Amino acid sequence: MTVNLLNFNQAALAEYFQSIGEKPFRAKQMMRWMYHFGVNEFAEMTDIAKALREKLAAEAVIAPPSVHLEQISEDGTRKWLIDVGAGNGVETVFIPEDDRGTLCVSSQVGCALDCTFCSTGRQGFNRNLSVAEIIGQLWVANKALGRDPKGDRILSNVVMMGMGEPLANFDNVVSAMNIMLDDSAYGLSRRRVTLSTSGMVPAMDRLREECPVALAVSLHAPNDALRDEIVPINRKYPLAELMAACQRYLEKAPRDFVTFEYVMLDGVNDTLEHAKQLLDVVRDVPCKFNLIPFNPFPNSGYDTSKPDNIRRFRDILMQAGYIVTTRKTRGDDIDAACGQLAGKVQDKTKRSLRRIKVEAVA
Ligand code: SAH
Ligand code: SF4
Repeated sequence: MTVNLLNFNQAALAEYFQSIGEKPFRAKQMMRWMYHFGVNEFAEMTDIAKALREKLAAEAVIAPPSVHLEQISEDGTRKWLIDVGAGNGVETVFIPEDDRGTLCVSSQVGCALDCTFCSTGRQGFNRNLSVAEIIGQLWVANKALGRDPKGDRILSNVVMMGMGEPLANFDNVVSAMNIMLDDSAYGLSRRRVTLSTSGMVPAMDRLREECPVALAVSLHAPNDALRDEIVPINRKYPLAELMAACQRYLEKAPRDFVTFEYVMLDGVNDTLEHAKQLLDVVRDVPCKFNLIPFNPFPNSGYDTSKPDNIRRFRDILMQAGYIVTTRKTRGDDIDAACGQLAGKVQDKTKRSLRRIKVEAVA
């Protein structure tokens, strides 16, 4: 069977070389060709013996995913719809800023967690992405973006904030992040790779042990009653447990704070009382806040908080001494903003069907 070498981190690649009777150090050499130079033809790997190149060509490939569609926004944001087969597609978004270029990477086709304000969640779930499909998003973006005049890559940061819950696809996401961090591959520092989770507590503990990177947590509500409703995973891992997990995570994290993401939903979670409750909930966790004005999508049932209310909410947090950023909406004209990533999901959970029925009855 043909293997796709993009599915292997360095340890797995070393095992593979051993399994075909080669020295494990080949893994490093191969990673450099693949990720430093972006080469996917064995024939071009001139410092590898011809016999080995031919052997590899017979049983392996380096096959990045193909791109259905690339869109470029007026503000420079770019979005790629990545073909992941069987009629499915996931989206990857590049966000240029003055001092960095961030790629927002997807981890699953759809998402099973069903947060009520999220377009990806609305679409249901199909499957986990493979390592090749996750790291392939960096491959595709790096190919398109290239390097700046100094020779540095334009893509400097990664956020695991695209479609899907990254901790629900733990093994593949960690392997792909190993490749992002590996000096023989993309060589990003742990501080430049951020994973965002809706709060899967046991997996947060595993991540701390196996691959600590910067952590963002989708909080979105300051009490269990509301969070149970809008982020349903809260019913399993309520706020007190989530906050304790954040504290444990920080013992080994590359940054000394957690970023709490908070989507601003008009009249739902954006009052002064909510802000005060929020201060109380996070009091033992060193953190920053990222307020995300809700990005609408058809039939969401929510409105974006009024700008004045967002400012007031922000001011309460700032007066308490926190650093707060309000996320600018980027790539609006190409539907590339947070929570708008839809891709193409053949839902296996029948959720979209259920919802259509509910809407038909309502
Ligand atoms: N599943 C992970 C990562 C992907 S979502 C998580 O939930 O953390 C990235 C961020 O966008 C999350 O904070 C998510 O809650 C937020 N988000 C989802 N839908 C949104 C919407 N419609 N408008 C604004 N932000 C949204
Ligand atoms: Fe999944 Fe995150 Fe969307 Fe919730 S917000 S449905 S966890 S992608």
